Amino acid sequence: MKKKRIFVLLLISVLVLSIFLVGCDNGDNGDNGDNGAVGDNGDDENGGETPERVAVATGGTTGVYYPLGGAFANIINDYVDDVSANAESTGASVENANLLNDGDVDFALIQNDISYFAYQGEEMFDTPMDNLRGLATLYPETIQIVADAGAGIESIEDLVGKRVAVGAPGSGTEANARQILEVHGISYDDLTPDYLSFAEAADNLRDGNVDAAFVTAGTPTAAITDLSTQHNVVLIPIEQDMIDQIVNDYPYYTQVEIPGGTYRNQDDTVDAVAVMAMIAVRAELSEDFVYEITAALFENLSDLESAHARGGDVSLEGAQDGMSLELHPGAQRYFDEVQ
Ligand code: GLU
Repeated sequence: MKKKRIFVLLLISVLVLSIFLVGCDNGDNGDNGDNGAVGDNGDDENGGETPERVAVATGGTTGVYYPLGGAFANIINDYVDDVSANAESTGASVENANLLNDGDVDFALIQNDISYFAYQGEEMFDTPMDNLRGLATLYPETIQIVADAGAGIESIEDLVGKRVAVGAPGSGTEANARQILEVHGISYDDLTPDYLSFAEAADNLRDGNVDAAFVTAGTPTAAITDLSTQHNVVLIPIEQDMIDQIVNDYPYYTQVEIPGGTYRNQDDTVDAVAVMAMIAVRAELSEDFVYEITAALFENLSDLESAHARGGDVSLEGAQDGMSLELHPGAQRYFDEVQ
């Protein structure tokens, strides 16, 4: 009888203990249990994604996003394990912000003014894009206004009544063209706008179908370099009072110069405005994944410089200049560690 009672007590103790242990185990599963699956299901402890393939949205093939986005994809392929990257040609900034926010790409080259509008849901964006985070700002993109030397265009006011290439549909260039014209009191009703990529704009300028083109890109831009060897073109300066107003009205424009000699037959330095190019990243990617990619980028900057001169502007010190998005926690962790 006594033995039986001891046995029952023991049994109850074992049961209570095992319920307690299972309870603890369940508690653990929420954190550590999932960790074991990092390599398998692509999610880390923060619930972020760790994809095996990533896409980088760039721009037109004769711009600067395309070669530099390609170099960034190669850096991921060469120096980050278990992931392959592919760079895609697109209509550039505005389209890229949409692609990134929708999860159609994982990284995107975007102008800092456009990513700001996207994040806030302003200007060309109806609603705030919550899926956009910053990785790093890269180099200045100059708003270059190229005109046929024979078209009699010496100032922005002379664009009135002319046929003007204002950038590809979905480009940041197009937004810049609209804003800069507007500051000069000119709207698309006062000229004939053509929504062309850099390559199309250059071909049409050479063939006499358009009189001028806006090009927002790092200098020298291949589309203009090639065009200037086939056709006589001039760069149109922006007057100082208008530069002051542009910089005042829109926080992400800065004043810059296009140095003489950037293009064939361009001896004079030209006053202009610029925005910054940045790499934006999908918020849903895991912290560790973005940390590794940020590290790979900044440890291999010479690969960017070999792809285009403006790649040489990218630096750790400048990586947050003009940053208009909240940094991705993975990029933030990298900068906190090395800066
Ligand atoms: N910044 C340009 C845009 O978004 C693209 C520049 C480039 O392709 O290098 O319209």
